[in-house]
Amino acid sequence: MACRLCQRNSDLCRSHIISEAFYEGVYDAKHRALPVSMNDSKLKFIQNGFKEKLLCGDCEQRLSRWESVLKETLVDIGNKTSTSLSIDILGKEFFRVKCIRYKEFKLAILSIIWRMSIASDPFFESYKLGIYEEKLRLVLLSGKVPDEKKFPIMVSRYELDGVFDPGMVMGYPPGKHERLFTVQSFIIWGHCFTVFMNDKIFPKVSIECFLRDSGVLYIDVCSLVELASPESILSKIYDEKVQSMYAKMHP
Ligand SMILES: [Zn+2]
Repeated sequence: MACRLCQRNSDLCRSHIISEAFYEGVYDAKHRALPVSMNDSKLKFIQNGFKEKLLCGDCEQRLSRWESVLKETLVDIGNKTSTSLSIDILGKEFFRVKCIRYKEFKLAILSIIWRMSIASDPFFESYKLGIYEEKLRLVLLSGKVPDEKKFPIMVSRYELDGVFDPGMVMGYPPGKHERLFTVQSFIIWGHCFTVFMNDKIFPKVSIECFLRDSGVLYIDVCSLVELASPESILSKIYDEKVQSMYAKMHP
């Protein structure tokens, strides 16, 4: 069978769509209870164990190297303490992270979006990327990370009553920003990653709202409660989201 990334014929691994590394602690009762209150919100709790034969051993390893960087970075950001990152708390609902390894971090996020797009399990239906599926394949194959204005990524941290929960792993339906940009989001390790699926035009939003190629990332803190309301998460949120992000940066 042909590997979906390098397209060479090879024995394929049963690859996780979302790496097990992001599921630590998801299985206790507390975490399982979370999505129950979100039944109406169209959010979907991503169960561990979605595996498909997608990649050859080499490609699997390539992606997992980027993922380890993402995981380490997220653990530190989650704890708000790090020996490699610099984390500045700028307010109750806002902080800045510096020294992120832009290349690995971004390629890992794009690889997750891409894997959800090529997955055949109907659970990931809403992550079909159309023309961007092949574009992302070429990006991942080359290992050349797109610059900060291509497929820009915004990150939010979710808390419930001030408590951060790294066990949050959820999928969203896609959204629109200014009716022009398709936006794909998912939550892993308690952080929502929002990717604007475009490599040609950049939204009319301050670049500061997104992961910078200098390794700087502003993260806003949101309440899980807002995810529970059905209207908050659908199309309109992304316009409000970028506005509120910018407002927090420029009080
Ligand atoms: Zn391969």
